[in-house]
Amino acid sequence: MSRRPFIAGNWKMNLGPRDADTLAVALKRLLADNTATDIAVAPPYVSIPAVVARLRHTGIAVAAQDLDPLKSGAFTGAVAGEMLAQAGCSHVIVGHSERRKLFGDTDDIVAAKLAAAYRAGLRPILCVGETLAERDSGQARSVVTNQLAAALVDLSLHQVLKLTIAYEPIWAIGTGRTASPAQAQEMHAAIRAWLAEHYPREVPASLRLQYGGSVKPGNASALLAQPDIDGALVGGAALNAESFRDIVAAAS
Ligand code: PEP
Repeated sequence: MSRRPFIAGNWKMNLGPRDADTLAVALKRLLADNTATDIAVAPPYVSIPAVVARLRHTGIAVAAQDLDPLKSGAFTGAVAGEMLAQAGCSHVIVGHSERRKLFGDTDDIVAAKLAAAYRAGLRPILCVGETLAERDSGQARSVVTNQLAAALVDLSLHQVLKLTIAYEPIWAIGTGRTASPAQAQEMHAAIRAWLAEHYPREVPASLRLQYGGSVKPGNASALLAQPDIDGALVGGAALNAESFRDIVAAAS
């Protein structure tokens, strides 16, 4: 089964509404001819409405960077999936390593956020990945498959089929240090093998696995040429319209 490439840009805590709109204008122009690749951008919450308005009818989807597991109530500062869907998001990133490390998202919270994403009708991009110490001690594969098992435990087959998984080795995020294409492919193949062990064939055959960790125009082609790498989750390079366009072009 051929999987359509999927490139997503995570803008992290960058670009308020005015600056996010400027980037969206540039992306709309530079990516107007794209038909071969699914594309999403994830602005900060406050910039979502401006980006949704700007990218309407372009085929570029808007994702949120996180969501709260709950639907509504007295939870100051929290944002529910339902609100994100109402604001025009179609996707949401769940379990990003920065959320896990800096904001205390445990495996249980990640699973609850995944459930909340489906409840709200959002398509999740689930992030998994190991630290450098875990890689150096030979635990990378078990860490990643344990994260998958914990996140997917309560999902139906129908839900799993709507998932995108982003493998993001923590040591490669924002560090300029990328996993080699061979290292990335090895983990992507391991993730697909784990999916094959636990789900019917259509799951490993159809699920898209993104690589994330210092993807740039200069390394994107080699990473995306790997048989089990179906796209990229891009941080820093997604803040520059030309760089993001070049990464999308490398996937096409
Ligand atoms: C990310 O934030 O998901 C990411 C991969 O960041 P960067 O591309 O900057 O390493």
